[in-house]
Amino acid sequence: MGFLAGKRALIVGIASPRSIAWGIAEAMHDQGAELAFTYQNDKLLERVAKIAGQTGSDIVIPCDVVSDEAINQVFTELKKHWDRYDILVHSVGFAPREQLEGDYMDVITREGFRVAHDISSYSFAALAKAGLPMMEGRAGALLTLTYMGSVRAMPSYNVMGLAKASLEANVRYMAQSLGPRGIRVNAISAGPVKTLAAAGIAQFRSMLSHVERSAPMRRNITAREVGNVAAFLCSDLASGVTGETTFVDAGYNILGMAELSSS
Ligand code: NAD
Repeated sequence: MGFLAGKRALIVGIASPRSIAWGIAEAMHDQGAELAFTYQNDKLLERVAKIAGQTGSDIVIPCDVVSDEAINQVFTELKKHWDRYDILVHSVGFAPREQLEGDYMDVITREGFRVAHDISSYSFAALAKAGLPMMEGRAGALLTLTYMGSVRAMPSYNVMGLAKASLEANVRYMAQSLGPRGIRVNAISAGPVKTLAAAGIAQFRSMLSHVERSAPMRRNITAREVGNVAAFLCSDLASGVTGETTFVDAGYNILGMAELSSS
């Protein structure tokens, strides 16, 4: 029996079989969790439904996180299948494409800042809040995905770095708020993984080869490796862990003078 047996998890953020959220869904499924999924728009429905089917789930609910109504509707729909749930995985990030290429000061705009923070940070608290009545009284676990661009200035990551810093602060404030109710909140800071979202970042391929050359483990990580840590963090095995950002990045974040360590 897996260590998530008896748990029900809502997975938000699958766009393709390369999505980090898919690595998480696979790992949670292998550990015995029952899964439900959301999809951003009609273009993704078929793909997400197919992926959901691979975990034996037929719960696939629309949700564009820019809409409060859509967020509330997720839980109205989920309630038709489940009376309660235990785990929320938030694997959502977005900034307008022109924000993710060129120099930060050249490309930053009020609108770019607003959209990145709304979709990539606020939506985590919004989903958690809307789903709270279904998690009340359970040893709930909420998990989001962040990147080291929150704490270091990275080329091209630009306003997404600010949004991820906001998201990590969100994790701490949500953990403080929900801890007394027995609900834990954590983040995984993943190393670069080739996904649809990553393809929007200029120089992404160079980031992958840089990490491969210089990370302590001399390789990149996989979505499934993120998934395994996510499954652990959302399980009762991690019952004493909340408000944390855990790196799954082949050790890259510990380096200084990373370029020199590749020799
Ligand atoms: P992905 O493109 O597979 O997933 C991004 C998801 O965000 C998609 O499912 C997309 O539908 C969803 N999304 C975007 N805007 C949305 C909206 N308005 N409403 C609802 N959903 C919306 O890419 P991914 O790399 O798996 O990204 C998942 C998370 O992991 C993101 O938060 C990303 O920043 C983070 N992350 C990715 C990497 C990487 O290198 N790929 C590294 C660290 C962190």
